[in-house]
Amino acid sequence: MNSIAEQLNEVRKQISAAASAAQREASDITLIAVSKTKPIAAIQDAYAAGQRHFGENYVQEAVDKASELKQFDDIVWHFIGPLQSNKTAAVAETADWVHSVDREKIARRLAQQRPASKPPLNVLIQVNIDAEDTKSGVAPSAVGELASFIAKQPELRLRGLMAIPAAGANSAMRKTSFQAMQGLFSQLQSQYPSVDTLSMGMSDDLDLAILYGATMVRIGTAIFGARAR
Ligand SMILES: *Cc1c(COP(=O)(O)O)cnc(C)c1O
Repeated sequence: MNSIAEQLNEVRKQISAAASAAQREASDITLIAVSKTKPIAAIQDAYAAGQRHFGENYVQEAVDKASELKQFDDIVWHFIGPLQSNKTAAVAETADWVHSVDREKIARRLAQQRPASKPPLNVLIQVNIDAEDTKSGVAPSAVGELASFIAKQPELRLRGLMAIPAAGANSAMRKTSFQAMQGLFSQLQSQYPSVDTLSMGMSDDLDLAILYGATMVRIGTAIFGARAR
């Protein structure tokens, strides 16, 4: 396998190419390196290669890594995994962004538990765009109500939407899902000036996500290699 620095470089090139193809600026797309299950050394390698945004899925792992890497104080931590209400405090205290808010209870707890010493927590609403039974996320029709709740919390900052298309979806299905997200996003943007972020696109569909307006892509495998879990 190539080094993490080389893989990162390839992903950056892919983002630039996808941005040009979509007549967008590559600088409008933030790359989040999804380091879940990967060791601290992998994050340090990516950091040395200039990467600053990292995504984690599991609360305890996220907290441990943020604490071990405290001296790298310009790392931006994104919590992107499913969030149970009994784990919100740790996330409110550690993360800079949460991509997976999908109910009022979670939003309320994150707001209550965000330390006063920290800036507002950046929040994305996860949308269950393919109406999967097993997937977290709100139905598209419920985005408005949750957005309105989040926007009223001074400790939270509503930044936009996140989605993970169904795992088995072919590219036509993904296109439909990304297009639907783009529509929901522009509707939300017209209502809230703080909304500027559409988080979608992973290792195997980042080009399509960028074509449909993604401003953050969450890439694990293409940077760090395959995961055991
Ligand atoms: C694991 C994960 C990713 C990264 O997936 P890859 O296919 O490895 O790029 C992105 N987003 C979420 C929510 C994930 O759980």
